[in-house]
Formats: sequence, structure tokens, C-alpha cells
Amino acid sequence: MPGFELFGEEERREVMEVLETGVLMRYGFDGARKGRWKARELEAMLSERLGTSHAHVCSSGTTAVFSALCCCGVGADDEVIVPAFTFVADLEAILFAGAVPVFGEIDDTLTLSVEGIEAAITPRTKAVLLVHMCGSMARVDAIRDLCDRRGLILIEDAAQAMGATYKGQALGSFGKAGCFSFDYVKTITCAEAGAVVTSDSALFDKVQAFTDHGHDHVGSDRGAETHPILGMNFRISELHAAVGIAQMRKLDRILAVQRENKRILKEAIADLPGVTMRNVPDPQGDSATFLSFFLPDEATARAAGRELPKAGVDGTFYWYDNNWHYIRKWDHIKQMATPQRLHISLAQNAPLFTRPDLPVSDGWMSRMLSLQIKIGWSPSDLEPRASRLRETLQRLLGA
Ligand SMILES: *Cc1c(COP(=O)(O)O)cnc(C)c1O
Repeated sequence: MPGFELFGEEERREVMEVLETGVLMRYGFDGARKGRWKARELEAMLSERLGTSHAHVCSSGTTAVFSALCCCGVGADDEVIVPAFTFVADLEAILFAGAVPVFGEIDDTLTLSVEGIEAAITPRTKAVLLVHMCGSMARVDAIRDLCDRRGLILIEDAAQAMGATYKGQALGSFGKAGCFSFDYVKTITCAEAGAVVTSDSALFDKVQAFTDHGHDHVGSDRGAETHPILGMNFRISELHAAVGIAQMRKLDRILAVQRENKRILKEAIADLPGVTMRNVPDPQGDSATFLSFFLPDEATARAAGRELPKAGVDGTFYWYDNNWHYIRKWDHIKQMATPQRLHISLAQNAPLFTRPDLPVSDGWMSRMLSLQIKIGWSPSDLEPRASRLRETLQRLLGA
């Protein structure tokens, strides 16, 4: 997820255009900004690329998910089905929205499965937060059908899947809302920012007001605008949006290099007995930020997680032990270590976070490794990396 690897002249030029006028805010100051509207321009690029009628950029991926949940009406006592393999931001967003997270099982796509969602549905389920982890996708059409059948709101967290598609359609555009992150380590970066995309105009109106204290953004006198809803301040600055514009222009190049680099590493190990690739429902649409695969058992996966970095294959992730991306190490959530009392402490339907029972997810996660795909690798780095990867796995597998 390497947009920062390509930071250069193009980003500097876009930022300089903002610094020339000094109008760092995305709203207002119409005269002084000399026609430069970086946040708006980035939104137009996003909605065009993703095929949604609207895109709204905000301060982070976390505030994007939070805003999407709130503006879809997800709140007190509502249950949201979410995978236990995600970034902790999704749990924060659900909990601080006042809702109740309910973990659903994942499958070999490393995202929520249809069966996992079905098993987690209760009369209080309001939404499914589908997280397209590590650059690839869920079986998103089947999951959308399920949500439609059961009257659930589908929200996609595509923070790690910018540029990925399923059957030609952009991830993030399947549900009622799609959320993206442009933090510093994502496929494209603004330093810090996020986006909510949707083709629902009423939802879009709410989201753009919610992230700016409820401003309706009608007319050209900010102080005179009305406030149809309460909101917060999750605004993006023009400086951040400017970086994002330059990065969006590099997206196709980033995807092409990632896909090629991933292909080389994948080919180096795909034939090894004992190595099973992650199920990618539409391989052509993979954004290829990671190569993820399963080994026969937890012990071998743990050993590979230790040995690969020693053999020079850095960027190896054994997510099962990761502090931020899997439930096992989320003690602060299990103990509800929040600075204030959250609504969930009053909810009758709060699950027992201390004893999450996710045998299927544990089964996949404990055997899985991901290798981060960089775009700066030269052929002279990639070839030895591929052979060291193969040799190390071969040795551990006795293959
Ligand atoms: C990065 C990320 C987020 C949060 O994005 P920020 O911009 O860092 O707040 C949310 N969900 C997933 C899956 C992410 O990877």
C-alpha cells in the first residue's frame, strides 16, 4: 500500500497551487482562491473513477466509516456485523456511533462470508460493514444480494482496496456507502484523509453536512447556511486534497506495478505443495497490495512469519498475532477501555467481547501470511526476494 513511495514533483506542484493563494480551507473564500477547489476536484476524480454519483472527502478513513454509519442511521442498539480481521478503526466507529458490533466469520477470501453474515444476523441487525482486506475482495455480489433479501444496509470499507474491482465494478460502489482511506500507508495517500462514496443523493447530503457541523453548503455565505442536522468537524484541508489529486493521477501506474510485482512473487511459490493462495473471487480486479496465502498449520505459518524476515523477505505479516488487525490482541476492546461510558454499556444485546467465539476465522487466520507488495522494487531486488521466499517456504514445508 505504497502511495508514499511515489511522492514527488506532481504532489509538490498541486500543494504549491494552494500555498500560492493561501486558501487552505475547502469551503468559502470564493474570491481569494482563484478558482482552486482541490477537495472538490478530488471528489470529482473519485466519483468518476469509482462510478458513483457522489464522493465526499473528509479527514480520515475512520471518520469516513463513522460518518457513513451515522448518516445511514446506524445508532443506539443497532447491531453491525463486522469481521474480526480488519483495522480496529471499524470497531471504534461502530462503538462511538452508539451501535453494537457483532463479529461475523470470514472465509478463504479473508473477508466476511455469506454464511458468516447469515449466522450473525439477529432481529437487531441493521448493517453489514464489509471490509475488503489487503487489496482484494469479498464475494460482494452474493453479499449484496443477501443484504437486499434481509433488509440490511451494506457499507463497504474499501480503505485497503482503492482501485480494486469485482466483475469490472469498483469496490466501494456496491453498497449504500463505500469508505476509503488516504492515510500515509494506503494505495494512494493525502497524508491523512478519507472518503465516503455513494450513489444515494439523500445520503450524500447528510454526509457532507455531518462532516462539517451540519452545514447545508447551500449558497455562498457560509455564516448564513442552515444546519439541517447536527454534525462534527471531519473536514479535509485543501493541502491534503491537493496531494490526493496528484496521487489519483498515479493510481493506474501504482496498480500496474503492484500487479506485476505480485505476479512474480506468486509464481515463485504457487506450485509448492502446502501453499494455498487466498481465494480472490475476481483475480483481474485485485489491487495487488498484498500476496496472501495459507500454510498447512499454525506452527508452519508461525515459523514462516519468523523465518521470512530473517531471510530478507521484509514486509511479512502474520496477522493472527497482529495488535491492530485481529481481535486476539484487542484487549482494549475486550475490556471496553474507553475514556467515557459508551452506549453499549446500556445495551441489552452487548456481546461478550471477552470471549469471542470465532473458530472459523481463527482457523483461516492462524495459517495465513501476507507479503506486502512494494512498487519501488527493481528487478534486481525482486528476483532474489522471490527465490529467498521460495527457498524458505520449501525448507519449512519439507517440500
Ligand atoms: C486504514 C484503514 C481504516 C482507517 O483509515 P484512517 O485513514 O487511517 O483513519 C479503516 N479501515 C481499514 C480496513 C483500514 O485499513
